[in-house]
Amino acid sequence: MTADPVSVPLPLPDLARLRPRQQMAIDCARCARHLGMSGQVIGDVRYRGLLFRLWICEDGCRSRVRGEL
Ligand SMILES: [Zn+2]
Repeated sequence: MTADPVSVPLPLPDLARLRPRQQMAIDCARCARHLGMSGQVIGDVRYRGLLFRLWICEDGCRSRVRGEL
């Protein structure tokens, strides 16, 4: 039985692989959809000395078209 820390509910995406729009919380960090006025924070990531707050779709990316990604 493994003891996973409960404070990390999701694996955070690699900042270096995200597009600038995803890094700036304009697009979803997971599926790259435009967030608009909704979304949820999945965590903060430090990258190149800067702290980025990553956002994903408010519905957890469930409403995107099936089969993508
Ligand atoms: Zn999404």
